Amino acid sequence: MNGSTTGRPTLGILGGGQLARMLALAARPLDIDCVVLEPNGPLCPAAPVAEVITGMFDDRNSLEELVRRCDVVTVELEAIPPAALEWLARYLPVRPGVEAVRASQDRLLEKQLLRSFGIATAPFNDEVPDDAAAIVKTRRGGYDGRGQIRAANGPERHAAMRQLTDPIVEGLVPFRRELSIVAARSVEGDIRCYPMVENVHVDGILRETVAPADVTDAQRVSGDWIATTMLDRLGYVGVLGIELFDVDGSLMVNEFAPRVHNSGHWTIEGAVTSQFEQHVRAVMGFPLGDPSPRGVSVMLNAIGTVPDTREVLGVPGCHMHAYGKEDRPGRKVGHATVVADDWGQLEQRRSMLRPLFGMVQLPLAAR
Ligand code: ATP
Ligand code: MG
Repeated sequence: MNGSTTGRPTLGILGGGQLARMLALAARPLDIDCVVLEPNGPLCPAAPVAEVITGMFDDRNSLEELVRRCDVVTVELEAIPPAALEWLARYLPVRPGVEAVRASQDRLLEKQLLRSFGIATAPFNDEVPDDAAAIVKTRRGGYDGRGQIRAANGPERHAAMRQLTDPIVEGLVPFRRELSIVAARSVEGDIRCYPMVENVHVDGILRETVAPADVTDAQRVSGDWIATTMLDRLGYVGVLGIELFDVDGSLMVNEFAPRVHNSGHWTIEGAVTSQFEQHVRAVMGFPLGDPSPRGVSVMLNAIGTVPDTREVLGVPGCHMHAYGKEDRPGRKVGHATVVADDWGQLEQRRSMLRPLFGMVQLPLAAR
């Protein structure tokens, strides 16, 4: 029995950002309370919908409070010290486990793990020819394209490597497009994969997701195999986000996130079960829900500032999510999803929405 004051099942979440906020919103109808541990305290996006413990992720008193108040602990970001997760796991289920979180924190470990599962990744380090174009990234701590430098040739690469701490060199992948898969595994080992989606990044930041992606049967099978292999091999419980490159039709994993993923936000309105509910179901030991899409969707991220709500809500079929964050350039502060019955209707609605999110007009077919 946990120490929650209400007696309701309680989910602890490490991190109180927008992902924790949307997890807590999904947990509410299941009568599950959420408690977040968040260094920034009561101003975090999750605060209006969850209880907040203010503290660092490795602060022993805060971790003890989580153990007292929660039945299960999960993460909403990968930058959690593995030692904190290991300590928590002595007292209550930590889902997903520390191995997945640890690998996702380090681009080198991540690639080595994927390769050991037989999953293709970008060429890295010694595999990248000296004079080839490359992306130099910090092994740890980068996000939204930060901590990365593009290098056109050998000398540029060496300069970039001196600039970044603990760098990894990745070959510049000539991808046709970027795809991703969000999938979940339950405590019993059941797996559900959402359809693959197509993502558009600008300056390393996700700007748009179109769901479902137009993929061949072979790609669908390959995507589901990648997700299933990772979930099974990791003994994973919860939702996993996998970013992919489509290189001449074959799939290569860019990176994975041991949590709900930005490219899965469309599922709130665009799928039978949202990725947030799915994650809550999985980690709390419930059966998984149906990941089938309802119609076709586009999700647009609000970067830096949230567009005018009245205008966004004026677009038919559109839903707005503001995260309660302060405006700041390059920061994800909200998103909108528009759902439609068919591609023609989606195209029309998307073209109304894109200018509000600072995106130039570009027909779906021309992406
Ligand atoms: P996020 O946290 O938003 O997922 P990130 O900072 O972790 O981003 P990556 O996903 O590694 O960084 O890279 C961001 C984007 O940069 C990718 O989505 C892709 O558009 C581009 N990119 C990254 N690595 C490569 C590569 N090896 N070849 C070509 N493009 C790449
Ligand atoms: Mg990425």
